[in-house]
Amino acid sequence: METPGSQSSLHRANLERVLRAVRMSGSLTQAEIARSTGLSAATVSNIVRELKDTGTVDVTPTSSGGRRARSVSLSGDAGIVVGVDFGHSHLRVAVGNLAHQVLAEQAEPIDVDASAAQGFDRAERLVAQLIEDSGIGPEKVLGVGLGVPGPIDVESGVIGSTAILPGWGGINPREELADRLGMPVHVDNDANLGALGELVWGSGRGLKDLAYIKVASGVGAGLVISGRIYRGPGGTAGEIGHITLDESGPVCRCGNRGCLETFTAARHMLGLLGESHGPGLTVPKVVQLAAGGDPGCRRVISDAGRHIGMGVANLCNLLNPRRVILGGDLAEAGELVLAPIRESVARYAIPSAARQLSVVPGALGSRAEVLGALALVLSEMGDSTLLESTGEPVPEAQSGHRRQGALKALP
Ligand SMILES: [Zn+2]
Repeated sequence: METPGSQSSLHRANLERVLRAVRMSGSLTQAEIARSTGLSAATVSNIVRELKDTGTVDVTPTSSGGRRARSVSLSGDAGIVVGVDFGHSHLRVAVGNLAHQVLAEQAEPIDVDASAAQGFDRAERLVAQLIEDSGIGPEKVLGVGLGVPGPIDVESGVIGSTAILPGWGGINPREELADRLGMPVHVDNDANLGALGELVWGSGRGLKDLAYIKVASGVGAGLVISGRIYRGPGGTAGEIGHITLDESGPVCRCGNRGCLETFTAARHMLGLLGESHGPGLTVPKVVQLAAGGDPGCRRVISDAGRHIGMGVANLCNLLNPRRVILGGDLAEAGELVLAPIRESVARYAIPSAARQLSVVPGALGSRAEVLGALALVLSEMGDSTLLESTGEPVPEAQSGHRRQGALKALP
């Protein structure tokens, strides 16, 4: 047992601070590590040398502000992580390494609501196939991140509402996938994973406080507060879709009336266009028609934006985020939906909170959730695995070893 405050426990704590910073950022210069951890340049330099000697990190020359610098990332050989994202109509799987490189990725159309067992069969097969494609053995998998399109009880890991995923009643998605794969699985809802994906790789990079709002068949928000996802004790934080906008409005699937979702979810938008545009419309099609100038589609998108903006204004007053990132199919409409959101925020939020807010589209599109699932593993895995698995220094030739084959770097 190490005494808290002893030389060795302090050293261990510093190692973990440096590892966490690099783990969540992909790569950082030594100066950036010093800034983000609060450690001195000399301490960072010593720790990086030690981690390099054990093969835990790779150090490559780079430049920062025109000056020579050293870029530090976790070793690409230290292990791999897997992301699995279930949407209502798709399954997407990605395999990445600890240096934030995606080694393999694939999406398939699937009716997730119909049967959970079928969905997990497909996921199991796709994960095995992509691990094989990555050229790295399954024994190197440090964890699997799993995204599901509904609220998850963080304690029990079960889906909070079967109204949202009718075919998933009584299933614990985390245990189901962990049993099938024989690997540790972390689970979260799609909005939280979208927030994590955009925070680590997309429109939220470098920020500590943001909200990711996903508008799809439902409307949900992932909240990042002080650099971490805020889930609340029951895991239901961020259910922005069920803010009441009109007490006597349409009945929502949650049982309330006039929820934000009843004005902005896909089926509501498509329902408004049923008379004028006929059946068979989808949100991507509406976005495409609107971009081509169709007045009805433009109006429906603009009205959805106005209503989302009312929710964002409430969020802004409560949490004062620096940025709101819009995800889901509707985000593809760009300024057609973003401008009315900003107008509502200006109208309904208190000026001091609204002034600091930017509203932007997500940078990752439909990949946000699966990349967020990779980030979830990076965020939850802790550093013990890394420190213990690489306790002994390895010879330079080995620590510098690189797997053959092309790597597809993240944007
Ligand atoms: Zn509702």
